[in-house]
Amino acid sequence: MTNHLFSDEHVCTHLGDEYERFHGAVVPPIYQNSLFVFESFERLTEAMKDEQSSYLYWRGTNPTVEIVEKKIAALEKGEKCKLFSSGMAAISSAILTFLQAGDHVLSVSNIYGHTTKFFSYIEKFGVSHTNTPSTDLDVIESLIQPNTKVMYLESPTTMTFKLLDLKAVSSLAKKYGIKTIIDNTWATPVFQNPITFGIDIVVHSVSKYLGGHSDLVGGALITSKEIMDHLFYHEFQLLGGVMPPYEAWLVMRGLRTLPLRMKAHQESGLKIATFLENHTSVKKVNYPGLKSHPDYELGKQQLKGYSGLMSFELTNNSFDSVRNVINSLKQFQIGVSWGGFESLVISPNYGYNTEQLINSGMDPGLIRISVGLENVDELMEDLDAALKLKARSV
Ligand SMILES: *Cc1c(COP(=O)(O)O)cnc(C)c1O
Repeated sequence: MTNHLFSDEHVCTHLGDEYERFHGAVVPPIYQNSLFVFESFERLTEAMKDEQSSYLYWRGTNPTVEIVEKKIAALEKGEKCKLFSSGMAAISSAILTFLQAGDHVLSVSNIYGHTTKFFSYIEKFGVSHTNTPSTDLDVIESLIQPNTKVMYLESPTTMTFKLLDLKAVSSLAKKYGIKTIIDNTWATPVFQNPITFGIDIVVHSVSKYLGGHSDLVGGALITSKEIMDHLFYHEFQLLGGVMPPYEAWLVMRGLRTLPLRMKAHQESGLKIATFLENHTSVKKVNYPGLKSHPDYELGKQQLKGYSGLMSFELTNNSFDSVRNVINSLKQFQIGVSWGGFESLVISPNYGYNTEQLINSGMDPGLIRISVGLENVDELMEDLDAALKLKARSV
């Protein structure tokens, strides 16, 4: 469907804009209509034979949404993309499309919290789940069961930012006839294209970098034509978590600057990671762009760049110390989510879950920051002041 020879910049700025189709409008319009009408009943019945490529009803296709789907499919080097109302809508649809009662899912390392909750949720339909904290291939292979149908991946992993060898994991899965799904939100299609390593489905929370402006919630699912031919008529249309055209239009606007924004996030991210790594109040920085990261060499093979989300661990890892640093920051706002223009800070340490954190391989002194598009020197000054304040107060 999509031409993989186009540069990311071309895809983001112009692919699918089709001026002649929209009266020369430089920005494609928002089709804010729930249904499409036909000249005759026969035309409508004809369109219903192929709902994927006809315009009938909003819960299937929409011209504005479709332009963005074309762009994201091309960026991910995939055949087909559908947009969803949230990242979780895309993730749950991807998982369900491969599963039946009696099947087993293997998820690897630290994955997004609500995805883990979804695996618990589908236990009531007879689907079992194992998670391994390890990214080691032998450990992963030892946990495969005869009924394992899906391997669910994130690379880098949530909060801990470890990498998985995507080529190796996908060929391991293929050997056992297991389908692979990866959450590629951190890297964005600008920095990582898991389909080129043999992964079956890529999902994104569009709410993060793809949207990029903290003004929308959405999801994307990219896969082969074959998988989409089933998924479109089932998990997409029946669960109905579709993206509205106005949100799609905002994503289109966000995408125009995606390659530029990712360059800026990477540049500031690397500066801040290096700064933190050399700070006396910091024990460890989890960022695959640092040469000291245990997976740095692997990253160079499968990542084209590094985004602005990372974590670091305080030398003093008490909850009080975590809280003091977070509360002292002025440029980094306290909030969930990430990937927007604004710098954000959060910790998985809530003061009452230390044991749980340690069991999932997370240091209680872990703080996650999303480096935004502000002046990087000001961001570093802010971090330095907060970290020094903490050192004084303990
Ligand atoms: C935010 C997020 C999600 C969920 O996306 P929503 O758009 O909030 O539903 C999934 N995976 C990762 C890695 C995320 O950061």
